[in-house]
Amino acid sequence: MDPAPGLMEQRGDEKTRSPEQEPEPWQALPVLSEQQSKDVELVLAYAAPILDKRQTSRLLQEVSAVHPLPAQPHLKRVRPSRDASRPHALELLLCLAGPAAGARSLAELLPQPAVDPRGLGQPFLVPVPARPPLTRGQFEEARAHWPTSFHEDRQVTRALAGRLFSAQEQTAMQGHMERAVWAAQQAAARGLRAVGAVVVDPSSGRVLATGHDCSNTASPLLHATMVCIDLVAQGQGRGAYDLGPYPACSFAPAVTPLGVRVGSVRKLVEDGDVHADSLPYVCTGYDLYITREPCAMCAMALVHSRVQRVFYGVPSPDGALGTRFRIHARPDLNHRFLVFRGVLEAQCRQLDPGS
Ligand SMILES: [Zn+2]
Repeated sequence: MDPAPGLMEQRGDEKTRSPEQEPEPWQALPVLSEQQSKDVELVLAYAAPILDKRQTSRLLQEVSAVHPLPAQPHLKRVRPSRDASRPHALELLLCLAGPAAGARSLAELLPQPAVDPRGLGQPFLVPVPARPPLTRGQFEEARAHWPTSFHEDRQVTRALAGRLFSAQEQTAMQGHMERAVWAAQQAAARGLRAVGAVVVDPSSGRVLATGHDCSNTASPLLHATMVCIDLVAQGQGRGAYDLGPYPACSFAPAVTPLGVRVGSVRKLVEDGDVHADSLPYVCTGYDLYITREPCAMCAMALVHSRVQRVFYGVPSPDGALGTRFRIHARPDLNHRFLVFRGVLEAQCRQLDPGS
């Protein structure tokens, strides 16, 4: 729980800062999945006016039974007409249409006697949202086409509004990123790439590893993320790299929570993995702060080590957590994690203005 030396140095600097050197404000913004970032996709459906309003609930029941639309639970079946001058006040969504949809009669669309079409008018084609909206922006767009229900993910909404983190959390986040910036400066002073990273246990605020890019011609893969994951492993009694020549790369030995042996690895219950002290999941439940967006190799290493959240300062041209790929949010990989960009953005950009 002791603040690490680098952090103290940074804090000390801050106190002596003159007002004109005030740090620029920053905002942590979520890097959403491709699904969440997409425009609303539309599919064609058939609807029909309800000419006899007294039949509405019966028609709704019978039509929903023959065309349940299991993949479109977000679509409401009845649309009140938005135009008061139109002859009918309500429209009923009947079923989805194929890609080569043309004019269809009620008899073609609704099997009888399962549906008694009394009270319905001539069917027409209408574009409707294909999938449930994931963000409020998608919801607003979706409902303009057809009435849509929306189960808002408050985390995402608050994150998009930049209100995900309390002032206290932001102070802690800034402190961790300042430490990553410090590590990057140590790397630059040694002629290494100015990328720094910190791994934190968010449950205690404890810094478990501080590292910077150590890559050189002999070891070209020692990116800051790889260094940090190895340092966390070293704190757990493992690790593979000799980082002795780089004093700014450091780790804190793992504390032993009640009933858990040093060297064991915390598990997510959802993994369904009962091997309490098997090796691989080095970063389960931990956060990584890194000055710039990790590459594909590092992003996959973070998937493999089961990191919980990644905060980075600036995007990288070859970045895999937002720019080129979104490896943290792929449904076909067995671990996903949250990614936020923009923490201490101005300071991180200064480290490597070319990025
Ligand atoms: Zn990398």
